[in-house]
Amino acid sequence: MIDLYCERLGPGLTAEPINALTNGAFLVAAWRLEQLARCGERRDPGVLTLAVLALAIGVGSGLFHTFATGWALAADVIPILLFQLLVLLLYLRRRAGVSTAGAVALCLAFLLACLAGRSVPGALNGSLAYAPTLAVLAVLAWHQRRRSLPPSLAWATGLFSLSLLMRSVDNAVCPFWPTGTHLFWHLLNAAVLVLGGVAVLPDRNNGATDAGRR
Ligand SMILES: [Zn+2]
Repeated sequence: MIDLYCERLGPGLTAEPINALTNGAFLVAAWRLEQLARCGERRDPGVLTLAVLALAIGVGSGLFHTFATGWALAADVIPILLFQLLVLLLYLRRRAGVSTAGAVALCLAFLLACLAGRSVPGALNGSLAYAPTLAVLAVLAWHQRRRSLPPSLAWATGLFSLSLLMRSVDNAVCPFWPTGTHLFWHLLNAAVLVLGGVAVLPDRNNGATDAGRR
């Protein structure tokens, strides 16, 4: 059994009821992303894939907070990583005008940074793995501002900072807050996923990328 969070006091499928149930927020995020993906008769394949990954995040995280095993941890972590990589790839291609090769190279660099963060599992309750995510969100929010784009990623950066804090202090607050704060990591991040999808929606006026129109 993997015991990472305050709420879990021992083995058992219902040892983390709040941490398990709050994953329902990711299912709501998946539903919202599927709505955003619709463009008349068609659906944008990029945002639709984000909706599927948000669904996988909800299911995978729900499994991990229920079974607390190695395979369930993989089911939790892999969809989260894929979601982040796809948002970064779509943003670089659709908003920043980066070439496919350049975008793939930057995604690989991001992946390596995430894996490096994971190699220090004890730091900040394992939250160091998400430091590259916060850094990339902040850079892309800055890019949105520079291009006068709607500030969805500034909101995402603020919410993710708060959710990362909640994730990091989960075990520290345990003595006086028995459920811990990991539930807020789920609830806030569901909103962050939707904001990530909003940031990479295709230009519906003429199919050109924002960067291409500048
Ligand atoms: Zn969780």
